[in-house]
Amino acid sequence: MTTPQIKSTAFTTIDLDKPGKRVGFVMIPHSPDDDAWGVTRLPIGVIAHGDGPTVILEGGNHGDEYEGPITIGELIRDLDPADVSGRLILMPANNVHAVIAGKRTSSVDGLNLNRTFPGSTTGTITQQIAAYLAQEIFPRGDAFLDLHSGGSSLDILPSAIIEPSEDPALLEKNIAAAKAFGAPWTVVIPNLGDPRTATACACQAGLVTIGTEMSGGGSVSREALALCRTGVRNVLVHLGVLPAKYATPVAGDDRVLDLPGGDSYVYATMDGIFESFHPLGTNVKKGEPAGRIHCTWDATREPETLYYGADGVLYGRRQPGRVRPGNCCLTVAQPYRGPAL
Ligand SMILES: [Zn+2]
Repeated sequence: MTTPQIKSTAFTTIDLDKPGKRVGFVMIPHSPDDDAWGVTRLPIGVIAHGDGPTVILEGGNHGDEYEGPITIGELIRDLDPADVSGRLILMPANNVHAVIAGKRTSSVDGLNLNRTFPGSTTGTITQQIAAYLAQEIFPRGDAFLDLHSGGSSLDILPSAIIEPSEDPALLEKNIAAAKAFGAPWTVVIPNLGDPRTATACACQAGLVTIGTEMSGGGSVSREALALCRTGVRNVLVHLGVLPAKYATPVAGDDRVLDLPGGDSYVYATMDGIFESFHPLGTNVKKGEPAGRIHCTWDATREPETLYYGADGVLYGRRQPGRVRPGNCCLTVAQPYRGPAL
């Protein structure tokens, strides 16, 4: 038996539904040891003008991924409301405790917001953030852009991400929106079917849903930031919220790639230091040596070779050299073989 969810006690400092441009906070009551009646504040901006769809932009779902939050902050400050047809809901730092700490997961409860949906209004603070998004923000939206980067542990080819959907019409819209971004790579990322991500939750709610993976390594890539700025505007033009003058022509690769299953990932098999054999973007073959793990504290021990599990493009690489068994060392994006594009 499931317990019905209690309505969230969160509130906002701005009206999310009236025309105009406002910037404020979602205030989620939070009562830790040093603050009996305090709140956790999620920054939020709303720009609403004229008729058109509502598009929600999320950054800071992971706190160590920066190109998306920078881009969303710029939109909040710079966009002329008169250019908007519809509404933008702009949230640059949704797992705010992780963002402030510069970490992937929350410094308060240790949770990964992107494995927490649909959340719980009576759970920990990260679960409450997810519940607020699922119950109060997603129902207002027609489309959702979730802006990620590789974070501290991964370097990833800058790419637009298609959220898979079992609804063919919605999948088609997700693919079209991701292609409109104009990234050099467009990739379906099903997260092995995990339903607990923000994009899975938004897509389940019927929103046109895409994401990004903008480089990573816990740094700000100049190239990825430039791509994120133009790509987000391109998608907003595609969705009809911004006029054509905001679009930047792109010469993207038309191929769509996919991470369809476990064979897309190369995992560490022992404790040690990982050496990869190829740069990102290399075409690789199943069974080909991918890298090796050195045990530098035992010189008698031979390195252990890891192998690719699929043909495809080397898409992601672990950033820290130190690995333990189960760490994701490499990711191979395979040609997309799902429903016709
Ligand atoms: Zn992320």
